[in-house]
Amino acid sequence: ILKVEHLEKSYRENHILHDINFSIDEGEVVALLGPSGSGKSTLIRCLNGLEPYQKGNVIFNGKPVVPTEKNWQKLRQQIGMVFQSYDLFPNLTVLDNILLGPVKVQHQSREAAKATAEKLLDQVGLREYENVYPRQLSGGQKQRIAIVRALALNPELMLFDEVTASLDPEMVRGVLNIISKLAQDSNMTMIVVTHEMNFAQQIADRVLFLEDGHILEQTDGTKFFVNPQTDRAKEFLESMD
Ligand code: ATP
Ligand code: MG
Repeated sequence: ILKVEHLEKSYRENHILHDINFSIDEGEVVALLGPSGSGKSTLIRCLNGLEPYQKGNVIFNGKPVVPTEKNWQKLRQQIGMVFQSYDLFPNLTVLDNILLGPVKVQHQSREAAKATAEKLLDQVGLREYENVYPRQLSGGQKQRIAIVRALALNPELMLFDEVTASLDPEMVRGVLNIISKLAQDSNMTMIVVTHEMNFAQQIADRVLFLEDGHILEQTDGTKFFVNPQTDRAKEFLESMD
């Protein structure tokens, strides 16, 4: 579904990503792991056009993306993303936050979009919150709504960048469970950046280990956590215990 070839990214003279190559098949869950500053967020942002890259190709469903803003805008309906900070619109209710994309961008009827939204809200246990405003929600609830909002566009690929990093510990489990369920029940294709190693181990079909902007290894999920292929990954895992 997605293939990245020889991607290079710099911020001015700072070379951040070096010759990134990988692909992800439909239904696959890839955990993108690596130390702070290794380039995980930068890479994931390159994959839905939030960051320009200087060289290489992103190929989505067999077609190289011509990286114009217009093309990326279209693709963002198929490639959903949730970040660390839930960027819900404070002046819109939960339901209107969710309906914005499907109705305004995809021109779905409000009724149809609402039916989908309510089904998704049920799945994350927040149906009764549809008419409240984001400020009335806890961090974990906001993050679940941010996930629903991305899913409401019916994306083919989901990108999660440390979605639990700013949550209180007691909120983390609920959000991770939703992502696990999405992987298992809906067979969603996803790239997940996380510092939660147990969670990564539980859901990852494959691990990409990034350091200093290089992919040091790509290893089967079952193997990576017990037998990483590089010393750096081994050290990284030990530091995460
Ligand atoms: P973390 O685990 O802390 O989130 P990360 O792996 O996501 O780290 P990135 O945020 O991708 O790392 O950052 C990679 C490198 O790119 C860092 O050296 C960072 O300083 C640099 N960088 C990130 N964003 C910018 C920016 N907007 N301008 C310049 N440099 C940036
Ligand atoms: Mg990051």
